[in-house]
Amino acid sequence: MRVTFLGTGTSYGIPMPGCDCAVCRSSDPRDKRYRTAILVEAGGRVLLIDTPPDLRTQCLAHDIRYLDAVLMTHAHADHVFGFDDLRAYTNRMPGPMPVWASAGTARALRRIFDYLDRPPIPGTSLARIELRVPDGPFEFHGIRLTPLPAAHGRADMIGWKIEHGGRTLAAIPDCKHLPPETVALCRGADLAVIDALRIRPHPTHMNFEEAGAALQQIGARRSLVIHLCHEVSHAQAADLLPTGMEPAYDGLRIEF
Ligand SMILES: [Zn+2]
Ligand SMILES: [Zn+2]
Ligand SMILES: [Zn+2]
Repeated sequence: MRVTFLGTGTSYGIPMPGCDCAVCRSSDPRDKRYRTAILVEAGGRVLLIDTPPDLRTQCLAHDIRYLDAVLMTHAHADHVFGFDDLRAYTNRMPGPMPVWASAGTARALRRIFDYLDRPPIPGTSLARIELRVPDGPFEFHGIRLTPLPAAHGRADMIGWKIEHGGRTLAAIPDCKHLPPETVALCRGADLAVIDALRIRPHPTHMNFEEAGAALQQIGARRSLVIHLCHEVSHAQAADLLPTGMEPAYDGLRIEF
């Protein structure tokens, strides 16, 4: 399995427009963060987790040639407003692209992109998407996909567990709390990735302390945090996290 972090920043991205703080002005390339998206390659298939507003730029930066399917986590703007950019890939597919989302996220996508439920006008090129709402674990071309419920404000939030060839990724980009069943599903993953927004507490995101505790419970072979805001630099984040846990950064690629 190969995992590429296309974006690792919170909803503003880093730098935040108009901000002169030390992190936004940092010369460390790891302090430049697009909004969060993760590319997963397994069994010859390419899966994308979330479609942030930066998606087009991220696809160009990584020269992504095709996508087989998309796994949505929730319908916040920083995860869905690049959804329409999927048409660059759906246009070249023989059928509609499968996109899995929770019931609440699917509802929001149908409201925001109302063409999803309308017949296309011949000659136009809207994204051809087949929205699917999973009711539990399922298989996609030999890849096992399990939705991971997580608490994240009012969002109908799910992370994703992806298993192939005896390897397991558990990715929960936005969360404040993990229910015990999600911790149990993630336990022993090869790679666990969760939200750590900043040092101060936040009502709907984990801070570093909460993320560290959750990752400790999960006990993955490798543990990473994402969705960082500009209050903490990459170097500071690396120092803050307990031993064995690291901040991800844009462009980080992990094969396992
Ligand atoms: Zn987010
Ligand atoms: Zn800043
Ligand atoms: Zn969110």
